[in-house]
Amino acid sequence: PAVENRPVLTLLIAAPRGFCAGVDRAIEIVERALERYGAPVYVRHEIVHNRFVVEGLEAKGAIFVEELYEVPDGAPVVFSAHGVPKSVPAEAERRELYYLDATCPLVSKVHRQAERQLEKGRHIVFVGHAGHPEVVGTMGQVPDGTMTLVETVDDVAALPFESDTPLAFLTQTTLSVDDTADIVAALQARYPDIEGPKGEDICYATSNRQTAVKQIAPASDLVLVIGAPNSSNSVRLVEVAERCGTNARLIQRASDIQPEWLEGIGTIGLTAGASAPEVLVREVVDRLAEFRTIEERTIESAVEKMVFKLPRQLAD
Ligand code: SF4
Repeated sequence: PAVENRPVLTLLIAAPRGFCAGVDRAIEIVERALERYGAPVYVRHEIVHNRFVVEGLEAKGAIFVEELYEVPDGAPVVFSAHGVPKSVPAEAERRELYYLDATCPLVSKVHRQAERQLEKGRHIVFVGHAGHPEVVGTMGQVPDGTMTLVETVDDVAALPFESDTPLAFLTQTTLSVDDTADIVAALQARYPDIEGPKGEDICYATSNRQTAVKQIAPASDLVLVIGAPNSSNSVRLVEVAERCGTNARLIQRASDIQPEWLEGIGTIGLTAGASAPEVLVREVVDRLAEFRTIEERTIESAVEKMVFKLPRQLAD
């Protein structure tokens, strides 16, 4: 096709975007385990919420399962970046399975806080999304009945505790910064003595990616977020863009893009959730270039230098 006369599409590409340090580490754990122990290496739950990443590791010999009973005796198993309830490593030890824990250190930090608050005799209010594996994992750090999940400001109003009950709050790492601020404010208003982290437990990568979307969305006619529907931080990026008044779509791959989406569109904002690799961003740019002449600009709102150490078993 003639390239010359095609209308220009301006792309505002958010930075930071895509892989965070916890995702980098989790993928490296599986790759190194495959090198060191040979295939197959079992992985309990999607190591990170991205099909492309999962299929890439499957091709190298990883086998993904949802529960430990699916792992045969004697096979190495990796726990995903989202973290696991305490019952999972306990069961692995009982079965004498060799396991590697790819839980993000920033999630583990929340787990330790949960234990600490429980030791202090405080009931924990956990702000998160029901059913997400990180929530299942964090709630599984403490005995049943010692942690209560809230998802909204209305949930806070419905809590059964008296205002002088010794409480502490913790949060999921991949929440909306703005929504969480409202929920924490509601908790502090109702329970003035509640203990908690400074602000919340939302991780650097989640908050940086939300800030970066706020930089591109107001100047965009459409925002595309590369990420999976079960990726919490990716879905939050779509919401952040929409709250800036811009239409936004979550896409998994470039092939999801329909040509009619570009009708009347002069500027597209592009970002990727923390579990989406950069190769998928390039794939989207190439796909858009099939329809238009692309003018690409990166809008950088922060520089990330975070790196997490590998588990001792895999360090060189
Ligand atoms: Fe860790 Fe945040 Fe990445 Fe989750 S999004 S793996 S908490 S750095």
